[in-house]
Amino acid sequence: MSTTRTGTTAANIEKAAHALERFRAAPLGHFIAGRPQPGTSGELFDDLSPIGGNRLCQVVCGNEQDVDAAAQAARAAFPAWRQVPGESRRALLHRIADLIVARSEQIALIECMDTGQALRFMSKAAERAAENFRFFAERAPGAADGLALPAAEHMNYTVRQPIGPVAVITPWNTPFMLSTWKIAPALAAGCTVVHKPAEWSPLTAMLLAEIVTEAGVPPGVLNLVNGIGERTGRFLTEHPAIRATAFIGESSTGSLVMSQGAPTLKRVHLELGGKNPVIVFEDADLERALDAVIFMIYSLNGERCTSSSRLLVQRSIHDRFVARLAERIGRLKVGHPLDPATEIGPLIHARHLGKVLSYFDVARDEGAEIRCGGRPAALGGNFVEPTLLTGARNDMRIAQEEIFGPVLTVVPFQDEAEALALANDVRYGLTAYIWTENAGRALRMAHAVDAGMVWVNSENNRHLPTPFGGMKASGIGRDGGDYSFDFYMETKNICLAHGTHRVPRLGT
Ligand code: NAD
Repeated sequence: MSTTRTGTTAANIEKAAHALERFRAAPLGHFIAGRPQPGTSGELFDDLSPIGGNRLCQVVCGNEQDVDAAAQAARAAFPAWRQVPGESRRALLHRIADLIVARSEQIALIECMDTGQALRFMSKAAERAAENFRFFAERAPGAADGLALPAAEHMNYTVRQPIGPVAVITPWNTPFMLSTWKIAPALAAGCTVVHKPAEWSPLTAMLLAEIVTEAGVPPGVLNLVNGIGERTGRFLTEHPAIRATAFIGESSTGSLVMSQGAPTLKRVHLELGGKNPVIVFEDADLERALDAVIFMIYSLNGERCTSSSRLLVQRSIHDRFVARLAERIGRLKVGHPLDPATEIGPLIHARHLGKVLSYFDVARDEGAEIRCGGRPAALGGNFVEPTLLTGARNDMRIAQEEIFGPVLTVVPFQDEAEALALANDVRYGLTAYIWTENAGRALRMAHAVDAGMVWVNSENNRHLPTPFGGMKASGIGRDGGDYSFDFYMETKNICLAHGTHRVPRLGT
């Protein structure tokens, strides 16, 4: 067991057990109109530990009435919340950020235990969530700002107003941080929210609801319903009081969210899956590229939408680069998520482990080589060995499908044209990472690759004003900066006449 600034494993486990006690005491319900609510369904499901599969908590599965109560609470709170001046919303959002920071250790420990993500990454989850609130806090006063668009005899100007109550539906991989990425701009814009967290990691969503209330945000502005996606999530996306759905999850679920919202003409924002290429040319700074390739697929257990799960590497350096990769992968530390030394924790759920393991058979059947890993890790639970698949072709399933685990597929390429063709020959288009010291090539590739976000000579490095989102099956819409307000707000044009133009006269 190791010690770092994030404590010792034993001390962390003890603190986590203490933090989780409240969830053992009673089933986790909803949070509606400023209060915890047990719901009306009486139906419960288990939230299981990724480490040993034991039950962390029982969770209420929201039925149609529960979803309706949450949506009605959001509808009732909207008229007053939209009138709260931007400066006051700014102060409230900063207060939320302060409270998140004050509870950051508790949030990190619970998040690790619920998701299996390693503490070295989750210790920053609360900080990043707080940053999201601070960033959109500062933008709240200007959220309604528009443009002046004068014509000869008319003055046009635009204003933005909040779209109304919105649904926020989030996945299980880094739930706390991801939910704030949606909820902070929604609240800054003046929208009210019903949040449905993922059924495999629902715990920290309740902490956020409590924090938002403690900060002084009025009841009904942020509501939470727990439940199973196909039912609770579906009811929410169908509810007529909900004007828009901000969704993060799988591409196939994104399609359902769109169709479920179609009868009520809901606006949808979809952040979906990826099979993101990291393209390493022979002229790259190979040491930095190696670090970034490893970080972008093996951090967060590879359960990250922006993971560089497809390594396209130039043939001239392929063997050398892959040998270095294999050596480093062999040294990755798989362990308890609360061990500060752990780099890879257990996968979220036994079912997800089964999915990831199934790709090792697919790799063998397709004729690829399992160069590292390819088995459950000896620790039991949902642990899996970090895996490197080589000798792959881009048309293999291991190069086309999102595995969402610590599994890297390597495909060699000959030249720039082939690299581009391989990069784009996939249904997804979330991110791309390009490694070359040739500036012209970097520009050519960056402009031609099908990806909503491109990093050149860098791992994923987020800057909150920049747009975040994907092309093709990776999503619709952008988050970040002002782009978030395009989703959570309506743009209205107001046209005033100077009183000089000729009004057409009929019936004279
Ligand atoms: P998922 O699609 O199974 O579930 C996501 C959420 O949708 C959960 O809360 C679930 O309960 C809910 N849901 C399921 N069916 C629903 C339905 N019919 N109607 C409404 N809601 C429903 O995804 P997951 O397995 O939780 O998360 C992993 C996926 O999320 C991966 O594909 C990953 O790439 C993606 N992801 C994308 C981003 C991004 O920013 N693009 C970020 C993180 C994760």
